[in-house]
Amino acid sequence: MNSPVMQGLNLNNPAYVKNAKLLAWVADMAALCKPDAIYWCDGSQEEYDRLCGQLVDAGTFRKLDPVKRPNSYLACSDPTDVARVEDRTYICSARKEDAGPTNNWMAPAEMRKTLQPLFDGCMRGRTMYVVPFSMGPLGSPIAHIGIELSDSPYVAVNMRIMTRMGKAVYDVLGVEGEFVPCVHTVGAPLAAGQKDVPWPCNSTKYIVHYPETREIWSYGSGYGGNALLGKKCFALRIASTMGRDEGWLAEHMLILGVTNPEGKKYHVAAAFPSACGKTNFAMLIPPKGFDGWKVTTIGDDIAWIKPAADGRLHAINPEAGYFGVAPGTNTQTNPNCMASLDKNVIFTNVALTDDGDVWWEGMGPAPAHAIDWQGNDWTPEIAKQTGAKAAHPNARFTVSAINNPALDSAWDDPAGVPIDAFIFGGRRSTTVPLVTEARNWVEGVYMAATMGSETTAAMAGGNGAVRRDPFAMLPFTGYNMSDYFQHWLNLGKKMEAAGAKLPRIYTTNWFRKGEDGKFVWPGYGENMRVLKWMIDRIEGKVQGNEHVFGVSPSYGEMNWTGLDFSADQFKSVTSIDQAAWQKELQLHAELFEQLAYHLPAELGETKAQIEKRLAA
Ligand code: GDP
Ligand code: PGA
Ligand code: MN
Repeated sequence: MNSPVMQGLNLNNPAYVKNAKLLAWVADMAALCKPDAIYWCDGSQEEYDRLCGQLVDAGTFRKLDPVKRPNSYLACSDPTDVARVEDRTYICSARKEDAGPTNNWMAPAEMRKTLQPLFDGCMRGRTMYVVPFSMGPLGSPIAHIGIELSDSPYVAVNMRIMTRMGKAVYDVLGVEGEFVPCVHTVGAPLAAGQKDVPWPCNSTKYIVHYPETREIWSYGSGYGGNALLGKKCFALRIASTMGRDEGWLAEHMLILGVTNPEGKKYHVAAAFPSACGKTNFAMLIPPKGFDGWKVTTIGDDIAWIKPAADGRLHAINPEAGYFGVAPGTNTQTNPNCMASLDKNVIFTNVALTDDGDVWWEGMGPAPAHAIDWQGNDWTPEIAKQTGAKAAHPNARFTVSAINNPALDSAWDDPAGVPIDAFIFGGRRSTTVPLVTEARNWVEGVYMAATMGSETTAAMAGGNGAVRRDPFAMLPFTGYNMSDYFQHWLNLGKKMEAAGAKLPRIYTTNWFRKGEDGKFVWPGYGENMRVLKWMIDRIEGKVQGNEHVFGVSPSYGEMNWTGLDFSADQFKSVTSIDQAAWQKELQLHAELFEQLAYHLPAELGETKAQIEKRLAA
């Protein structure tokens, strides 16, 4: 027997941890990973402060100025470990077809054989943290529990912000409750006496999901999306397969509430690819000309959506914090976000100013001198000469949702909020108009399925090239993409058959550029103008113009109070270029060829209709 207790490593579990499966699993993992110690996180403030202090001592964290940025820290990662690694991310379903052509796949047995020697002894010289967390309100019928084992205290403290983490999870779990086992290692065991580095990681990386057994194994990276396993790995990849099996949706969507001056409230869920505006849209402040309108945040990244007893789709945010993109965030474009970052923040890969605060590109006036995210001197002069960035373009903040001044009062409601509209938005400098409403559910699913977007720094290797990113879920769907499309179509059909009101579906593009290479649409708070048009459509107040893909606003239907935006400018963000769209449809065809296995027939039919209209 290889039990760690027998080897002399005490499991050391608190008396309140009674789940037999959990205890056996922790014992097995400890036997495999061979940590020096096991630490069971209780989620308390005292524990958080202590672990942060340890991270400061280890050189991972730097405590920021306590007056300028109370109780906040800066971590700078290894320069090779700054984003999600999609080429190292695997869906290991029993059948290759169930992972589909858009996911990396390896047979489960083969992957286990590959990972075994990597995990064997991977935590030597380190502590294994046992991190209990709930995705969704604790004890709610829609929530799910996970336990992450990690040798990274950075992960433990980030998980405390991003999830409901702590010992209350064990009350819900009980003796026999189910949990998703998540094991994470930075893959950098320490020999006796070996000095640690501030950001341990390994050049070999594996982000592995076993959908049938609902397990996550992550090796070699400390970066958020690869290491905070409740987020993309659980709440999207594993949860999407749960949703497929159980009739619900796990989506890469923000959720917001929008209240009009009469006090009527709508809820919108919007899917934009990583670093394409979710956090900003979720925290939007209505601009001039929108007196009495209010936008409130339910979530900024992930939505779990289920048909409810009232016949409508209800959405919850399974997270408890925001892991947001810092660069580009400032008091003009996103005052709510800046206010959220006043205190109790973990910053990763931003620059350190001489007065112990943080700075990033697009935050405001540059400091005369700073230490950049890689620890080098940075000045505006150096930046001009070498192009050096003070902050990494994918630099992040981790902050609790309760810091957000625009937090919706229902953000924590286990019943979720009823969704009135879905938005799918890409980052496209050309071709795709500002906003289009689908005429029906199938057309909406088509538009979402064929969405293209320019890749960003949120993924390793992201370089602005356009790729198809169906539903903004390309890197996050835990199963076959065509089956995922079918799941969306089935849900619509089922709800329609039951006489339920389906949410409207829109596509947006905030990112069209002019000949000068600059964004034409002002974006950010001004996106309220588009949001209002959507609500006007729902209320039947505006007609829009019907075109080949659906319905878009006419210039006169939009509220322009407080914004100088000419009809010509409007045309340049809404026009549909025949030739560009012919090329675009060629890309849809290529996608459908790739996804031919199980591709729903309705999508091919919708494409044929669009082509006919485009040629006419
Ligand atoms: P998320 O990763 O999808 O949550 O995206 P964020 O909201 O964090 O935004 C990512 C980047 O896009 C940041 O640099 C933002 O400043 C920028 N961004 C967000 N919304 C807009 C917009 O409406 N227009 C433009 N031009 N940029 C935006
Ligand atoms: P996001 O996700 O870029 O969609 O905000 C964070 C990540 O995992 O990189
Ligand atoms: Mn975000």
